[in-house]
Amino acid sequence: MLKNLLLITVFISLTACEKTVQEYHHSSLHFGTLIDITLYDVSESQADEAFKQLDKDFSYMHSAWSPWESGSVGRTNNLLKTGATFSIGPGVLELIKKSAAIANNTEQLFNPAIGELINLWQIHKHDDPDIKPPENKLIEQLIKNNPRLDDIKIEGVKIQTDNPHVLLNFGAFAKGYAIDLEIEMLKNRGIKNAIINTGGDLKAIGSHGDRPWYIAIRHPRLDTWIAKIEASNDESVFTSGDYERFYQYQGKRYHHILDPRTGYPAQGVQSVTVLHTDSGLADAAATALFVAGPDKWQEIANNLHLKQVMLIDSKGVVHVTPAMKKRLKFNSQIDTTILTATDL
Ligand code: ADP
Ligand code: MG
Repeated sequence: MLKNLLLITVFISLTACEKTVQEYHHSSLHFGTLIDITLYDVSESQADEAFKQLDKDFSYMHSAWSPWESGSVGRTNNLLKTGATFSIGPGVLELIKKSAAIANNTEQLFNPAIGELINLWQIHKHDDPDIKPPENKLIEQLIKNNPRLDDIKIEGVKIQTDNPHVLLNFGAFAKGYAIDLEIEMLKNRGIKNAIINTGGDLKAIGSHGDRPWYIAIRHPRLDTWIAKIEASNDESVFTSGDYERFYQYQGKRYHHILDPRTGYPAQGVQSVTVLHTDSGLADAAATALFVAGPDKWQEIANNLHLKQVMLIDSKGVVHVTPAMKKRLKFNSQIDTTILTATDL
């Protein structure tokens, strides 16, 4: 567990008087990812207390929301299977409601009810040398069960489903939603300038003194960045990529973003980046647009009212919305073909 507190002090000379502006960094492992937090222009005690709170909250949310832990989502999954009506914790109810709205706007391409399919693929075991794709007939069976969040009937805090194959997995949404909640927590503590970064998925508030926060978006195939962006106005930058978790089997790449229509890893895309003030939406939308692919992403982006999107297809061609194009500074060291979407 990386829980070391790194304190870095940055001295900046201001014109009239000498003022010490302090920047603090903290890294710790939550949600299976290294989370980096930067706070700017805060006191040491403010930073220290905020970091402690962040660690506590992230670790709580991870155990409550992980489908593999015995927390609220684990309990909900066990009870949903029985077909009984039961009371659900407010946290999970909120996750279901928020993600159901997004799932319905993405034609279920973002579908957090496909936990059984995700478990079948076992992509998180990508380091296991014996791993191979599941049998086609097992995949087909799970597709036929057609689990959706809409299969869950909600009445107040009571929920029930007649579909025993609904298995919740909020892997494509929870990190984004958690970042939104924690940015609120920082604001409530009077912190105005901060970044919470979970392996390239992040939200920034305020600025870094007299300059904005600079964000680099990773190239999906090269060990460098493809574009940079200046984040401002509480913006989140979320990327879903086929390079995050994958294995090769007989020369083919099998990655962790599944197409609920086919049951197989989504084809045609290397990465999708979404900018939005709502981190939960940006996280889920990046996954949905990845599944939608080069032919359908604009339609889904329209349904979600997204304005700032970049999709890199399997040939490495970059597709951007006009608003996103204005924001991005592409890496001049890399030869990139850029297509601007016309419908957005
Ligand atoms: P990351 O977790 O790397 O940021 P994503 O946000 O795209 O990537 O989420 C991918 C995770 O979401 C997968 O590991 C899996 O748990 C889950 N998932 C995969 N496909 C889908 C899908 N079509 N809809 C909803 N969740 C999905
Ligand atoms: Mg996502």
